[in-house]
Amino acid sequence: MNVNLSTAILREKDAAFHFHPFTDNGALKLDERRIIVRADGVWLWDSEGNRILDGMAGLWCVNVGHGRPEIIDAVRSQMSELSYYNTFFKTSHQPVIELSEMLVDLAPPQFEMVFYGTSGSDGNDTVLRMVRTYWAMMGKPEKQVIISRHNAYHGSSMVGAALGGMSGMHEQAGTIPGIEHIAQPYWLADPSGMTPDEFGIHAARALEAKIDEIGGDKIAAFIAEPIQGAGGVIIPPDSYWPEVKRILKDRDILFVSDEVICGFGRTGNWFGCETFDTEPDLMTTAKGLTSGYVPLGAVMVSKEIAEVFRIPGNEFNHGYTYSGHPVSCAAAIANLKIIKKEKLVSRVADDIGPYLQKKWRQLADHPLIGEAVMTGLMGALELVPDKKSPSRRFENEGAAGTIARDFSFKSGLIMRAVRDRLILSPPLTLSHEEADTLIRIARKTLDDTHHALIKQELMKA
Ligand SMILES: *Cc1c(COP(=O)(O)O)cnc(C)c1O
Repeated sequence: MNVNLSTAILREKDAAFHFHPFTDNGALKLDERRIIVRADGVWLWDSEGNRILDGMAGLWCVNVGHGRPEIIDAVRSQMSELSYYNTFFKTSHQPVIELSEMLVDLAPPQFEMVFYGTSGSDGNDTVLRMVRTYWAMMGKPEKQVIISRHNAYHGSSMVGAALGGMSGMHEQAGTIPGIEHIAQPYWLADPSGMTPDEFGIHAARALEAKIDEIGGDKIAAFIAEPIQGAGGVIIPPDSYWPEVKRILKDRDILFVSDEVICGFGRTGNWFGCETFDTEPDLMTTAKGLTSGYVPLGAVMVSKEIAEVFRIPGNEFNHGYTYSGHPVSCAAAIANLKIIKKEKLVSRVADDIGPYLQKKWRQLADHPLIGEAVMTGLMGALELVPDKKSPSRRFENEGAAGTIARDFSFKSGLIMRAVRDRLILSPPLTLSHEEADTLIRIARKTLDDTHHALIKQELMKA
């Protein structure tokens, strides 16, 4: 490959041939296209020599940071030993066996088996087919409905989009029957004046009401992210998950924790369900499983479900060409070894997590900020037009968020904007010094955005 093409030529070819995902391709200007050329640790470099702090760990996935030789070496040696073989033909291989045992050891005690794909999206396809098939095998084929939440993100495949709660995705051929949505636990956006704890209970009871409305005998499962990620890092009030747990306890339905972001240390435990003390029957994982070096997804299956699929005759007619890909498994093993060796999970709980959270929450003193929240290393800043009534939104929703995101990028920090919420999810290896840099750029971003919004008369001075 010719890596010496000039930035201008690369941008033109990118515009000509490359269909970007989740992008208004027609509106994307040539000079807005950044060519990323190199990455190391928490840093990225673009083709014009700018160094940028990767505050999103790629897309929430590069938990151990970029460029780790342990993973690169593991991938290289697996490639030369056995670059590919399938797991359909009564065949297996050491990396998939080793990784499965590792994952079952790391996961909460109810988990017993692992089913592989290559992403979070296909993992949730597996989940939907698995829960419906499980109930059919249990002699309850009428249990088909899956309850999810508004604003959830469960991937971009047909099932992922339908399970998710993004209306824009539903509008583009993204619904399938038998999926219902309830409210999300987004306290700040609720104008009713409830306290966070009251609101958390209220939001949880939407689940109870939906179960009663449809009938528990028709419901297969409830699926949720411990913290909604792509929806804007919506951290539920403390009262939410205990109430959901109470509701799920008496009901004969399965709980799926979508741990694609929260898994592998992001919230200060190995899995988000541990941070919020829930008891899932299935967990979807991907992203941080390999820190994004190569694609891999894994669905963790509880003993209760595994036992049914272990009954001779109960074959699951499902699988992917790359289920348990040996190279991906080798990368995951090396990645998990780094997380263990460098104690990154407890580092998030006891060291860099609290360190960054304290400084991040102090950003709440800024005139533009209605809320500054962070759990583990997953944070959000809500930009609001009037700090005194933070549930009020900007009239032109999303404009302030986009302005802020662009300032941040220009100043050397990648934050993402969801509506008017800036979100952050840096590598778990972030140093204290890098955290200081991050906060400095975040504050400058808020100042720059504040001035721009006043100048454009989008908010009052
Ligand atoms: C990213 C994400 C997915 C989809 O994963 P892909 O690997 O992009 O298919 C599913 N669930 C959650 C919570 C995610 O954040």
